[in-house]
Amino acid sequence: MESYNEYSATERLSKLRAMNRLLASGELAPAVGPCDLCGDSDASVKFEYHDEDYGAPPIWGKPAQYCLCLHCHRFKLHKRFVEECQVQRSGSRS
Ligand SMILES: [Zn+2]
Repeated sequence: MESYNEYSATERLSKLRAMNRLLASGELAPAVGPCDLCGDSDASVKFEYHDEDYGAPPIWGKPAQYCLCLHCHRFKLHKRFVEECQVQRSGSRS
């Protein structure tokens, strides 16, 4: 797991583990739509939580935690950094 939003991999992993414990015990409801980015609420779509804040104590809701569809989370949101890096690399070559 990489660092994100200036939170270390260790901090991210710590919140992820806490979230998985709460999900398993039923204290935290599983992520359900609509997606906070695209608004998709299709019941066949897989939703997951995305965290912007990994501070302690953990916050289980907005603005620290969002519910996103798998597509927005994996491809739109996290992939934006990959694209930014590619832009910076190609820019530095010129
Ligand atoms: Zn979405």
